[in-house]
Amino acid sequence: MPSGWWSALRGRLHGGRAIPEDLWQQALHAAPLVAALDAARLERLRGLCGRFLAHKRFSAVAGATLDDLRCLLIAQQACLPALQSGFAALRGWREVIVYPGEFRVRRQHEDADTGVVSEGDEDLIGEAWERGPVVLSWADVAQDLAHPHEGFNVVVHEIAHKLDRLDGAMDGVPVLPPALPRRQWIDTFQRAFDALKQQVDRGRRTAIDPYAAESPEEFFAVASELHFSQPALLARQMPGVARLLAALYGPPPWPQAGG
Ligand SMILES: [Zn+2]
Repeated sequence: MPSGWWSALRGRLHGGRAIPEDLWQQALHAAPLVAALDAARLERLRGLCGRFLAHKRFSAVAGATLDDLRCLLIAQQACLPALQSGFAALRGWREVIVYPGEFRVRRQHEDADTGVVSEGDEDLIGEAWERGPVVLSWADVAQDLAHPHEGFNVVVHEIAHKLDRLDGAMDGVPVLPPALPRRQWIDTFQRAFDALKQQVDRGRRTAIDPYAAESPEEFFAVASELHFSQPALLARQMPGVARLLAALYGPPPWPQAGG
């Protein structure tokens, strides 16, 4: 368990806590994606991170190590998708569990056509439980921090699942701001998902991670990663999706990335 400034105070905090300047600067140094935000959004993110650290409990398991800096780095990535919608978007769960690397889970799978239930082990780098914790592989969080423009961000991916679940249904449609018509979201995302799935089913090489073709919810989570990590690629491949994600999340910190 981390034992620094915020964890000692956490139990007494309600609104959040101002993050010490030196710790904030260290985190910005380690997270160029976050450092690329404009000054106003960076200040907003800092406030969200203070609340995130005060309200979420971090647990290091299986030999993982966490300190204040690592917790803040995770908080920064987790709050990026909430910059526009605010801290309420991160409600309904309280725990972040961190493994040192990939972690193995036992899964049941029911085949939709045959009804046959099979069970197997799966290695994961991240997971978001329904109303439960976000689970992360630190090695993969660190990899994304060091290479912010390779199209991957496991924290953003899992938080996108959390946003998706806020309205009760895990379906690739998060709670939308009033200015974003739900119909437009569904039509645009469905068309882009169908097109990608068709390419993947035909064995074509795709510019976007074929994992996005698994389901509408994975499509939304992968597209969210691209919004922050390779927004230029997303805009080129799926301009409608890119526009809607910019309306949901605000403009990407580094619009030219992935160009
Ligand atoms: Zn996922």
